[in-house]
Amino acid sequence: MPEVIRQLPENVANQIAAGEVIQRPASAVKELMENAVDAGASRIDVRVVDAGRTLIHVMDNGVGMVEADAKRCFDRHATSKITSADDLFTIVSKGFRGEALASIASIAHVELKTRHASDECGIQLNMEGGALAQETPVAMEGGTQIAVRHLFFNVPARRNFLKSDAVEMRHVIDEFHRVALAHEAIHFTLTRNDSELFDLRPATLRKRVIGVFGSKYDERLVPVDESTDVVGVKGFVGKPAFARRTRGEQFLFVNQRFVKHGLIHRTIMNAYEGLLPPGQYPLYVLFLTIDPARLDVNIHPTKTEIKFDEDQHIQSLLLPSIRRGLGKHAVAPSLDFDQESSLNIAPLPKDRVVAEPVVQVNTDYNPFQSKAAPGGSSGGGLRPGRGQMDAWKSLYEKAWQPGGEAGPVAHEEHAMQSSASGEVGAQLEAGDEVVVKQRPLFQLQNKYIVTATKSGLLVVDQHRAHQRILYEELVRQLEPEGTPAATQQLLFPAAIDLNAADQLFVLQSRDWLAKFGLLIAEHDDGIEVQGMPLEADTTPESLIQAILEERAAEVAGVSREERVAARLAASMAVRVGKALKPEEMVDLVDRLFGCSTPALDPFGRTVIVNFESNELEQRFR
Ligand code: ADP
Ligand code: MG
Repeated sequence: MPEVIRQLPENVANQIAAGEVIQRPASAVKELMENAVDAGASRIDVRVVDAGRTLIHVMDNGVGMVEADAKRCFDRHATSKITSADDLFTIVSKGFRGEALASIASIAHVELKTRHASDECGIQLNMEGGALAQETPVAMEGGTQIAVRHLFFNVPARRNFLKSDAVEMRHVIDEFHRVALAHEAIHFTLTRNDSELFDLRPATLRKRVIGVFGSKYDERLVPVDESTDVVGVKGFVGKPAFARRTRGEQFLFVNQRFVKHGLIHRTIMNAYEGLLPPGQYPLYVLFLTIDPARLDVNIHPTKTEIKFDEDQHIQSLLLPSIRRGLGKHAVAPSLDFDQESSLNIAPLPKDRVVAEPVVQVNTDYNPFQSKAAPGGSSGGGLRPGRGQMDAWKSLYEKAWQPGGEAGPVAHEEHAMQSSASGEVGAQLEAGDEVVVKQRPLFQLQNKYIVTATKSGLLVVDQHRAHQRILYEELVRQLEPEGTPAATQQLLFPAAIDLNAADQLFVLQSRDWLAKFGLLIAEHDDGIEVQGMPLEADTTPESLIQAILEERAAEVAGVSREERVAARLAASMAVRVGKALKPEEMVDLVDRLFGCSTPALDPFGRTVIVNFESNELEQRFR
């Protein structure tokens, strides 16, 4: 038998490795930027032509390489960053595998210019097909400049695999952002063809985040900064009101390296429980710092996946940190259960000097601490976090409890008294948890309901509040023990023509639609609506249309039934401009605070605005 096993030529091995490390132009941009960061650069300029297909040029003012190193850096497994396996446990550099330059050189034309800080003259190397083609001395500033041309010129399969310039450019920008966010002290620029897209000067982290995302993000950011002796977390999370239906604004860094980590992502989402409708993702740019010995960064060649020894520990720091952050910024109501007598006031800005200690601020207070193990429950969203819900409820109820809990505002403030007084209270007293006495409650512009609480003033959007209430009621009908919602039988059933697919869908959904009070029967080339939800303020046609639209939409984590419920709720809710009777207002507000997510309507819009008394006091200064 002849021998069959041969060693692969170096260049072929490199091309194979390149398949793992360099999938697209953006991967090369990432590797080159990271090398520049590792080289201690304070300025890094990136330029791409044709989304990186034609040229990727990365220029840095880092330490540079001496001649021998410059020649060696294209060898496989050539790295200056580790010398032994032990070093793997103390890695602080981005790279360490010594694969990137070897891979890139094997699938592109590379021109390297570099000058080490200790040399007077630089050197230029031209690599072709992984081999040195030319070598010349050059005069240049200290640092390194790498031009990668015609990426994948010898790997047509890869080249053909690339997407449109727009898509590839999006990937390049993503990688650029990831590196730039993690190194706010470095000056980065990104130029596309001949136009500069980003010029990010050294800045604070907040300014860097704004530089990357745009100035309107300033008001969206809630800072997080806490640590234990094992792990630290700092950065920003987005206010829930700005969450999006698409992912893409979630950035997690571990020791300044961008990573993806499902568990941590879920922990962060859990921190938003009750603040976000299902299917929405908040922005976050969070940096974890962990002793490198406690992680294994080596499990994936592109190193965006990571394993921790201490998942548990990290979750138990992360979740309350984010919640405290959200609480402090009055995004979530922060109540003080421990200090019953204190005013509930959001923490003051750090630089504010308080003249007299009349205000007690408990900055450590965590409105969610009643919750069981952190990260324990899944954020299904519809029946969201008790902590959140209790906090809102308590804010409301405490103001009205008999027996002295009600603050002076509630009892004595005659100025705010509205028509909703005596009789309304009496009506509700029987068997109602919330005993209403002399409750000041009035309607503003036939649009808002205003009511006082112990710690300030609540303004409720009547239309959105009603949507939230109806939505939760409808969703409850879906449960096995739920009783169907009330139906109004139509005197003249409405026949609606539908195409075969739509007809099939509606008929298949008939059972659960009936639970919402929508009664449907089959009809020639379509369906017939025989009964409508009692309070629906729309035509059968537009209701069916709305349902069909929800069929097409895909929203992660939200069932079609829930989305249809939201649309129905919107069609049934009391309109803006409708004058409400006092008892209707009381009923609406009470039902709202019986909801699991009173603060948001089913589409994620704000339902309640809370003015803390310190805000009011401020105005009277
Ligand atoms: P790794 O980054 O994993 O070490 P690379 O193939 O990316 O492997 O780079 C190989 C080596 O080349 C690095 O370890 C470093 O010593 C050197 N090098 C690469 N890029 C630069 C740069 N921009 N400035 C200085 N040295 C560099
Ligand atoms: Mg590298």
